[in-house]
Amino acid sequence: MKTKASALSPDKASTRKTVLAGDYWIDVVKKGQTFRILDLEGNQAADTLFFSAMDPAERYSATDTIREQGNVFLGLGTKLMSSEGNVMLEITADTVGRHDTLGGACASESNTVRYDLEKRTMHACRDSWMLAVAERPEFGLTKRDITHNINFFMNVPVTADGGLSFADGLSAPGKYVEMRAEMDVIVLISNCPQLNNPCNAYNPTPVEILIWDR
Ligand SMILES: [Zn+2]
Repeated sequence: MKTKASALSPDKASTRKTVLAGDYWIDVVKKGQTFRILDLEGNQAADTLFFSAMDPAERYSATDTIREQGNVFLGLGTKLMSSEGNVMLEITADTVGRHDTLGGACASESNTVRYDLEKRTMHACRDSWMLAVAERPEFGLTKRDITHNINFFMNVPVTADGGLSFADGLSAPGKYVEMRAEMDVIVLISNCPQLNNPCNAYNPTPVEILIWDR
């Protein structure tokens, strides 16, 4: 796992926004801007979707990204590919080491299957995304645009026999991942409220979003 600290100073960021656990954040990051997700308290999971701002039908594709880089984990140098084969963003700094794009986002349905029928009403990332789509129609997204995502900071190792496991996180307080936009992208983050697995240490905490214009 490679890590690299950023040379960018938080004082020079044009946007700084704290996103509480269980909340969403949606905005456009423009081509050439650098975008950071900062894990303020450690072991959090930021479930993230990317769409082309020009045409939201073009979106982040986990399968194209994995195939192009020949690795199932995302990290420093990963080019995040779209469903049309274009580079959307590139990870330019990362103090965590790797990020998941296989595990998917939590939903009331998956909580029911994985944990218990009584978990059905617990808040999940899919609910936050659905709320964002409903509350922010100006971005032109609908329910059908919610597809596979990236779980920044989440540790989902692949076992020797090909299984997936949700493991304790590699992140820690103050760690971050940073990426430069290669096109204008809509970023939709659910700061995960999950309480049933160790993806956020059973204790959902805030993240901070920072954007630099250069
Ligand atoms: Zn979640």
